[in-house]
Amino acid sequence: MTGPEMEVLDIDIETVKGFMDVAEGEALYKAALAESTHGPVLEVGTYCGKSAIYLGTACRANDQVLFAVDHHRGSEENQPGWEHHDPETWDAEAGAMDTLPFLRRNLRRANLEDTVIPVVGKSHLVAKNWTTPLAMVFIDGGHSREMAMGDYKGWTPHVAENGLLAIHDVFPNPDDGGRPPYEIYCLALESGLFAEEGAVKSLRLLRRIK
Ligand code: SAH
Ligand code: MG
Repeated sequence: MTGPEMEVLDIDIETVKGFMDVAEGEALYKAALAESTHGPVLEVGTYCGKSAIYLGTACRANDQVLFAVDHHRGSEENQPGWEHHDPETWDAEAGAMDTLPFLRRNLRRANLEDTVIPVVGKSHLVAKNWTTPLAMVFIDGGHSREMAMGDYKGWTPHVAENGLLAIHDVFPNPDDGGRPPYEIYCLALESGLFAEEGAVKSLRLLRRIK
């Protein structure tokens, strides 16, 4: 834990596997603290729970919940042989990754078992069956064009009026990272439905204005 604000977390966030920078995590926490006064929050792409701990701790303060959607089989870049593979996440019997046990353990350690509701499944299948309006949606799932577009089309309609859409790994400069999260960020702005409200490193916060 670095920033003084993050003393609100019941867990040393450095002990949680994952891909959430502390400054971005703090921004997620602050955003969720404000937004979850209006309703539940949902994230796509939970992995071992790092971002969910920031978001969930904020939801807990408002007696709200965070839905944490992930199939727990990892994104392309998490697979064996790829840059972000962690062999500890490999389930030999399944012949696939399984990050769900890590998530459960981390939610217990962070005192978030009554706040964060893991939804285990493919994002597009969950989105297709979703009906509850969401005060805030955080997109941090698969980074292929197909996955990012699926998350954009599937989840933006569920952001409540005046709600917040957060997108991770938005890199305007192609040298810094993959394009699809940046492309869906551009689509959201071009749609006229969202306006940018904040940015911290690769995190973008967009307000639903229509
Ligand atoms: N937010 C996490 C990092 C997420 S990594 C953190 O703070 O550390 C991206 C995650 O998205 C992976 O766990 C992967 O399993 C999940 N994912 C990728 N594509 C998905 C899909 N189509 N449906 C559900 N989950 C998906
Ligand atoms: Mg990310």
